[in-house]
Amino acid sequence: MKLILQAQVCYIRFLTRLHQQAFRARVLKAYRSRCAFCRLRHAELLDAAHIIPDREAAGEPVVTNGLALCKIHHAAYDRMFIGGVSPDYKIIVEPGLLREEDGPCCATAFKACTALNLFYPASAKIGPTGTALLSALPNFAINSGPARLDRQR
Ligand SMILES: [Zn+2]
Repeated sequence: MKLILQAQVCYIRFLTRLHQQAFRARVLKAYRSRCAFCRLRHAELLDAAHIIPDREAAGEPVVTNGLALCKIHHAAYDRMFIGGVSPDYKIIVEPGLLREEDGPCCATAFKACTALNLFYPASAKIGPTGTALLSALPNFAINSGPARLDRQR
């Protein structure tokens, strides 16, 4: 019985990896292998981030629920240092992070992004839906203090 259960767990992990790889390939293709926030163009440094987390019912592995993000922006997005995108597609960075004086990474990876619009797929049909983009914003503390590491989408 234990062996059957272990085989089932392995099979589920295999299917999950396949699903994640397929989702990543579709999202990176849609964004022409560019980070939607900073425009970094190195596929090996990009992830496919879910806008609505895949643990939620609406968190489907479809391109319209995905963003191609570099590793730093994916982590920042998942931990709410980047709250999402405003209705006019401006990238919203946590105000506490914007107040920090923390060297070149903070200045270029976060502060500079506030002046940018989301890099959008060439076809609007496969771009992120407004509903998905805005769904993350209610959980984002616009007037929050210093950044906290315990937040996750
Ligand atoms: Zn980036």
